[in-house]
Amino acid sequence: MDKKFDLNHLNVKAFARESLSLLGQQSITHFARLAELAVNLEEASPNDSSKPSQISWSIQGEWVPVAGGDAQIWLHLKAELELPMQCQRCMGGVNVSVAANQSFRFVPDEATAESEDDESEEDLLVLTPDLNVWELIEDELIMSAPIVPKHPICPNLVPMSAVDHAFEVALDARPNPFAALAKLKKKPNESPR
Ligand SMILES: [Zn+2]
Repeated sequence: MDKKFDLNHLNVKAFARESLSLLGQQSITHFARLAELAVNLEEASPNDSSKPSQISWSIQGEWVPVAGGDAQIWLHLKAELELPMQCQRCMGGVNVSVAANQSFRFVPDEATAESEDDESEEDLLVLTPDLNVWELIEDELIMSAPIVPKHPICPNLVPMSAVDHAFEVALDARPNPFAALAKLKKKPNESPR
């Protein structure tokens, strides 16, 4: 990897101007916040539970000349991994494919970012000579991970214990407090009969 381009301190403008690209693999252990989403269940990866997940990533700089104005500076980012998570239906381990694919356009300052944000499809970031690309990759993967991970089809047919089931039934049977309140509020308006 070119020493000029340290991914902890990427000079975005220089990277884009030369239309450079980089790609590689990085262990999930490098990303503390992302690693927190992963569960360490044996079922998650029975074949190689000792091997941490690997993230495949790539970044591509792009310099788009604009007639009569400043060139646009772009960074395209892709990253993916198999994330071991806990299925929220059967509570077993499930390997979830998480993929991020995002383009960023860099603007000179925060004010420009705010004023152009509404009409832009892409993500706007403030230009920096010191971009932490690892953080960007981590943020994008966290946002791409499912909030409620599930197997497409659960391998085990014991979704919850009897206690959990009873609790859910009790929850369902509870009257909706807002519905009750609405009834109370309605009373004075009802015509007396
Ligand atoms: Zn499941």
